[in-house]
Amino acid sequence: MSEKAYIQTFGCQMNEHDSFRMMEILAKMGFEVTDQPGQASLILVNTCSVRQNPENRVYSLLGRLRPLKRRNPDLIVGVGGCVAQQEGEAILEREKLVDMVFGPDNFFRLPEMIESVRRGERVLMTQWLPHTRRVQNFIPEEWIESGHVEGCKAYIAITKGCDNFCTFCIVPMTRGREVSREPENILREARDLVSRGARELWLLGQNVNSYRVGKFGFYELLTAVTELEGLRRLRFTSPHPNDWNDRLSELMAARAVVCNYLHLPFQAGSDRILKLMRRGHTREQYLAKIRYLKTVNPRIEIGTDLIVGFPTETEEDFRHTLEILEEVQFSQVYTFKYSPRPGTKAGAMGDDVPREVKDERLQRVLELQDRITAKQLRGFVGTVQEVLIDSAHPRERRAMNGRTDGNRPVTIKDPALEIGDLVMVRITGVRPHSLVGEVDLPVAANA
Ligand code: SF4
Repeated sequence: MSEKAYIQTFGCQMNEHDSFRMMEILAKMGFEVTDQPGQASLILVNTCSVRQNPENRVYSLLGRLRPLKRRNPDLIVGVGGCVAQQEGEAILEREKLVDMVFGPDNFFRLPEMIESVRRGERVLMTQWLPHTRRVQNFIPEEWIESGHVEGCKAYIAITKGCDNFCTFCIVPMTRGREVSREPENILREARDLVSRGARELWLLGQNVNSYRVGKFGFYELLTAVTELEGLRRLRFTSPHPNDWNDRLSELMAARAVVCNYLHLPFQAGSDRILKLMRRGHTREQYLAKIRYLKTVNPRIEIGTDLIVGFPTETEEDFRHTLEILEEVQFSQVYTFKYSPRPGTKAGAMGDDVPREVKDERLQRVLELQDRITAKQLRGFVGTVQEVLIDSAHPRERRAMNGRTDGNRPVTIKDPALEIGDLVMVRITGVRPHSLVGEVDLPVAANA
């Protein structure tokens, strides 16, 4: 009987992608992935340190694993990802049940680490991979053509790390300086994923649109990927407003394969706070890019991230954030209450906005966004949307879930549908955060 491995992932899509990679590595070693930690002989926790909450959740999860380790002293527990990179040795000291700690650059060395643990060692691997001139093919050669296809989707990491040093963010310290993979290295992975059933690709990077290898930038890469035969949808996340330009807006509008959804974080609506955050753009510069995008691509849907309660944020600063929500009419907003991250510039500014004020501002953002979302969703009723079916509904029998081009979740009751189908769906109703529809007709090139 094969050994079982359980992976718990915290944080962003980049981390999910890394976890998929870890699963592939473990499968090659003979492990079977389980969703029951109690059945596992190997447990990996892939951590995120962008917000305080995931970090606390990591330690509380490790606490809950103690009885499993007591029952099975051979159980191997590893902590990877950004908290591991940041805390390193401290995790081994604080949590005796942890056998190995490894940073985001080291998960390809899991077989070696597991071997060392089996020899009775505790492992710490947080070294950075070497790179020259901001170019690094950070996916090992032997893994390029064995990426993971999840249903009909696959992720490709095109850059790693970040050079922006926003004052609230720990990423440049935990993921390192930004590096880009060579175009052919990425395209080889993309071709392979499409040939193995990926209908939708996501290009990933902490600052995905600052991708550059010599004269080959994000625009050129996006263009090249859209030309892959068999690819039906292309998405990317997260771009930075500073590296967004009108040419990219025009490309999105011109290439049908590039989905009509852009996640463009603005973080705060006040120029004073944006400056303190070291975002490198003003509110007007952000809005001008959005206005142009909407002009050339009226069907575009836009998502964002924002922080409430950044140090010194006043009621007036906060109102500017609400104004941006009103003007842009985002389709998705990820809102975070500011919490200081150790080692960041903002961490030294003092966390002076009281918790109840942060709570109240967060609530106001959520209420406003709920109103905007409800209105937008009602506007879809009666329209026909192209939907890529990506999963079975977890609770409703014979219902399938999919996403519109603009990334709206849709549920369709139709037993004939399969994962990977691209269908035109007539929207018949709405739920609090999603749409309901019925198949209007399959998309011609579905076969
Ligand atoms: S752009 Fe700013 S927020 Fe985004 S990863 Fe880089 S430092 Fe962090």
